[in-house]
Amino acid sequence: MNLDNLQISKVTEDVLLVHQIKIPSNFSCSDGLLILPKEGRNSKAIALDINIEPEHINAVVREFGPVSDYVNTHGHMDHIAHVHNWEQAGATIHAPSPESMCLTDIKHFFQSFDWRGVKDFSSIEQFAMLNKFKECENVVPFMPGDKLMFENCIIETISFSGHSQSHVGFFLPLEKILHVSCLGFDQPAPGVDGFGPWYGFKQCSIEQYIKDIDHAESIFLEKSNFLTSSHAHIVKNPDTGPFKYMRNKIIKNQQIVDQALKTLDPHLSIEEKVYELLKNDLFFPKSKMKGFLHELYALWESHTIKHHVERSETLIN
Ligand SMILES: [Zn+2]
Repeated sequence: MNLDNLQISKVTEDVLLVHQIKIPSNFSCSDGLLILPKEGRNSKAIALDINIEPEHINAVVREFGPVSDYVNTHGHMDHIAHVHNWEQAGATIHAPSPESMCLTDIKHFFQSFDWRGVKDFSSIEQFAMLNKFKECENVVPFMPGDKLMFENCIIETISFSGHSQSHVGFFLPLEKILHVSCLGFDQPAPGVDGFGPWYGFKQCSIEQYIKDIDHAESIFLEKSNFLTSSHAHIVKNPDTGPFKYMRNKIIKNQQIVDQALKTLDPHLSIEEKVYELLKNDLFFPKSKMKGFLHELYALWESHTIKHHVERSETLIN
């Protein structure tokens, strides 16, 4: 079924994947799950990481009834921008610690990720405004890995920290659904290409990412019927396509960086190599960007490149 500008797909009889079709900017929205009320399980709907614009949140509540609890997956902008509206609509907001603080204070968003290279806080404020971010009043923190229970609805959170320190996926044991959130499976339809795993902050780790992908794959193949994520279509067990896609993206990114490294003096320091490679727009079309967006993309690309250069040096030595 579809509400205006929303694509709502049934994962199971009473769990829906909600996707906003047209979005105001790149880091404004993420798909998530709506667990409908079910007798003996939950008397009100529960929303998992459905970061869509306020008018669409209101349409979902009108259609499916009030939401008792909302669970966020991490502190990146495309997962925090509109959560305040779920709170306004009556939901208790839960988020993984410590990035939970990003939802209530944009300054924390500035402090918790390493934004060195960005001019100052005003760049972050502009980025927040572009994505229509508003702060929540109250957020209940949980630890990645905690099991959450709302009435009789069980939501196991799984730490996938390669992407971000607090980043979690969800496993719904009764419904046999694995939601990998921002792990990097971002194909909107089979065969359609996306960006893949994203590790553009200092705290991200490619090695941890590879472990997270293995972990997600074993949970999917051993005990799930369905796989969903923040920016992709629904996948049924035993399709291992999402895991191959993510691993291939990391391998290809490594090849892009290794190829570019061949043009440089091998005796340069890692910082000098990153500085030189940043001029090539290896991952983002930065030369077409201006102002704060250019700053942000340059920062993300510099960390992406640095993670690969470091990996390349450890693989050689
Ligand atoms: Zn993210």
